[in-house]
Amino acid sequence: MTNTTEKMTSTQIIELENKYGAHNYHPLPVVLAKGEGVYVWDVEGKKYFDFLSAYSAVNQGHCHPKIVAAMTEQAKTLTLTSRAFYNDCLGEYEKYVTEFFGFDKVLPMNTGAEAVETAIKLCRKYAYEKNGIDENKAKIIVCENNFHGRTTTIISFSNDEDARKNFGPYTPGFIKIPYNDIAALETALKEENVAGFLVEPIQGEAGVFVPDAGYLANAKAACEKANVLFIADEVQTGVARTGQLLAVDHENVKPDILILGKALSGGAYPVSAVLANDAIMMVIKPGQHGSTFGGNPVAAKVAIAALKVIKEERLAENAEQLGQLFRSEMNKLVDKYAIVNLVRGKGLLNAVVINDTEDSKTAWNICMALKENGLLAKPTHGNIIRFAPPLVMNEAELMACVAIIDKTLADF
Ligand SMILES: *Cc1c(COP(=O)(O)O)cnc(C)c1O
Repeated sequence: MTNTTEKMTSTQIIELENKYGAHNYHPLPVVLAKGEGVYVWDVEGKKYFDFLSAYSAVNQGHCHPKIVAAMTEQAKTLTLTSRAFYNDCLGEYEKYVTEFFGFDKVLPMNTGAEAVETAIKLCRKYAYEKNGIDENKAKIIVCENNFHGRTTTIISFSNDEDARKNFGPYTPGFIKIPYNDIAALETALKEENVAGFLVEPIQGEAGVFVPDAGYLANAKAACEKANVLFIADEVQTGVARTGQLLAVDHENVKPDILILGKALSGGAYPVSAVLANDAIMMVIKPGQHGSTFGGNPVAAKVAIAALKVIKEERLAENAEQLGQLFRSEMNKLVDKYAIVNLVRGKGLLNAVVINDTEDSKTAWNICMALKENGLLAKPTHGNIIRFAPPLVMNEAELMACVAIIDKTLADF
């Protein structure tokens, strides 16, 4: 038996994963071995544009030299202390990230789902200790077709059958309402014991559903009026993806609790965060919540570097500009090819809806053909293809990608 994959082909490596790994994903059959900026290379050396960016975790581009340098330097110095002791990086990061996003405090975690769990706990505790809701009675409003992660509590309020079925019993305490429906929110807010409203500013996994202009601002106002916390899950939409630092910035909304993950780390290392002001965050006392790896020195240095890159390289502005261009180019293809129905999105978080049924294989087949032509994207929900390249892309590269998409669609 060999213990190196150095000389193995894509097919052999895929077989290895199939044999030894749990089958909880269905990847496109491409085996990547290297990444730089907007490009990735497979083990055979073929080069691709990455149009998924690890679900918007790699906004700063693959292996950004400044993020890699921060990570490797810290990795040689001190990697993990646990929070039983202080480390000399966490305070610096906490000051940086809270000033960056304009909150009093941060609670550091590792993955998006953990940060969502943290926000739920924080919301409930605040409701009991500061808002007079009776213990175990708090309810949090969520939206249909949400995606907030994979824990047992989070999948309890999912309505994706694959994510839910046979993983029960489910955690109670959630009210589900339609997305982008202020009247439904106002009705739900009238129920007793409502503590929070948890929402994605754009529903990414559901297929990049952008709510109507004004939805987030109106939702925030309705929550304020009802004395209910507005919790924004910006794990996918945050950190410049949609053309602003946060997607809620498009409507000048300031969440009571902000959840970040994915690109907070530039795709280098798992880093997530929950941000809130003192009145909320200070309800959590020592011993009441935590994580062995949360706030470790490597995570702290990586996240500072990742956020600096966002600012220095003006990635929000770039996402806004290139996003406009991308949608206008895709709209030309909507007119040109019957197979594409529409394009929607904000900044560089976009989706193209394929003119076929949700259970058809057309979107998958288009992604396979895009792969052959040098561009990697992934279908979501059957007939939707998400297009979300790293934000370090330039206009010439984007136009090269548009040409690939054009040429590929011509064959369908
Ligand atoms: C990806 C995602 C999560 C979960 O993040 P993980 O790091 O995979 O746990 C939560 N919320 C949203 C909106 C996401 O897109």
